[in-house]
Amino acid sequence: MTQTPNIIPVLFPKIRIIFDNYYNEKYDNSKLYQDILEYASIKTNGFKFTELGKWLMERNIEFKNDYSDSKAHTRMSNRIANKRQRIQNCIDNLKKWEFLRVSKMVNAQKNDIPIPFYIITPLGKLISLIVKAKFSNDEKEQNNILVQILDIFNSIKEHNDSAIVIFITELLNQLWKNNKNSSIIQHFERVLKLELNSGLDFLRDLLGTKYFIHWFIIDEEISFKILEKLPEDKRNIILYNLKTEIEYYYQQNYLIKDDIFKKNFLPVSINNFDYGDLINSRAIPSAYWEDNRMKYINLFSKIVVPSYCNTCNSHKAFIVDIADYLKSVIKWLPFPSMHISGNCLKCGNFLATEIISLPFISLMRG
Ligand SMILES: [Zn+2]
Repeated sequence: MTQTPNIIPVLFPKIRIIFDNYYNEKYDNSKLYQDILEYASIKTNGFKFTELGKWLMERNIEFKNDYSDSKAHTRMSNRIANKRQRIQNCIDNLKKWEFLRVSKMVNAQKNDIPIPFYIITPLGKLISLIVKAKFSNDEKEQNNILVQILDIFNSIKEHNDSAIVIFITELLNQLWKNNKNSSIIQHFERVLKLELNSGLDFLRDLLGTKYFIHWFIIDEEISFKILEKLPEDKRNIILYNLKTEIEYYYQQNYLIKDDIFKKNFLPVSINNFDYGDLINSRAIPSAYWEDNRMKYINLFSKIVVPSYCNTCNSHKAFIVDIADYLKSVIKWLPFPSMHISGNCLKCGNFLATEIISLPFISLMRG
């Protein structure tokens, strides 16, 4: 008996698909990715396509349902052949994301044509554990999986004791000790929902090298305690990372939504031509902010925020303590305060500026 293989549109999914749940839809690629990762993490020495195919036909709910009732007698080789393209697409994406790799080429059983022998990568193992922790309903099992995840982080720390890795590992250990497993899983889930295109993107967010603030705001109380206990040099690095991340945000985004700039400084039309859009798209923070950023570069616990001063009638800046800034980010999550305020470095007048907008915050709302 032969069947027409399922025709699936060619998709270029994001890594987040692995964490989704389309159980009610006809083609559940999320579950398929999850199952492939599970098989790959069982077969730590590697596997061939056909071995995976057989396992999926017995384990994947959608495939099992497809071959029940009137199709229950479909031969295994035909079942696998019908789903081959779909499974192969998932494998190819997992390879692209660096969660699987080809460890060697081996000969197929029936002929001598070399076929790939796949193996899970350490990153793939980690993502498979996170997926299992998310979908596990058994508290004991979930706890067990989290211990394995913590072990991975602890072993990363043994090889790399950068301040960020020390901080993240300590934070995970503290969350676990304080029975905040759901915070850990929720955090990983948010990391995976970011716009990730490769294993490297995932690793960057996971290890906080891209958005370190995301880690810091998981649990404000624990984060600040860890910061206090760190040796001064490590604490300064953490503060410096937070400082540069926030200041860099203003460097990129300060005037994008700023209409004061247009109103006060821009002739609405020059020779009857509206330059508004042109100037606005080139908007950057002022030299005053740049100069003060340099002036306070060694003050790790302070952030220099650009702003417009109505008294000075020009673009100025103010200074905020990092702890106060982060408290504003954390306050009323998922709806943080919109603005951060301080006093003009030039005249002392009250100034306010929009607070940093993090990809995470919108995920918390969603
Ligand atoms: Zn001023």
